[in-house]
Amino acid sequence: MGDCIFCKMANGEIRPDVVYEDDQVLAFRDLNPQAPTHVLVIPKRHISTLNELSPADAELTGRLFLAAREVAEADGIAERGYRTVINCNAEAGQSVFHVHLHVLGGRPMRWPPG
Ligand code: 5GP
Ligand code: ZN
Repeated sequence: MGDCIFCKMANGEIRPDVVYEDDQVLAFRDLNPQAPTHVLVIPKRHISTLNELSPADAELTGRLFLAAREVAEADGIAERGYRTVINCNAEAGQSVFHVHLHVLGGRPMRWPPG
């Protein structure tokens, strides 16, 4: 996916503010943070939306959440609480079409979300 910005981050072409990395997953701070902690956790392999996940991606999906847990712990928000969000397609407001898990915390969150 030559023009995918998150693929460029995954392959090192663009280096964001990385907070976690392993062989399959990268996590970095959002450019336009919506909370004191706003980190995006992505699979290094290009998957455009949640709809494109397959059963073969079950372990990878779990790794995204395990990375989110690490990020929350490292930012000191694990016990206070935080939110994880994956926006899928237009009505959810997805703007980058490479699956990413938002980790948001450091302030009280309202429910329901907008
Ligand atoms: P979405 O709306 O697709 O769920 O979330 C996309 C997120 O990616 C947004 O929160 C946006 O601020 C973030 N984003 C877009 N481009 C960049 C970038 O170049 N660098 C970083 N760090 N975040 C980005
Ligand atoms: Zn991509």
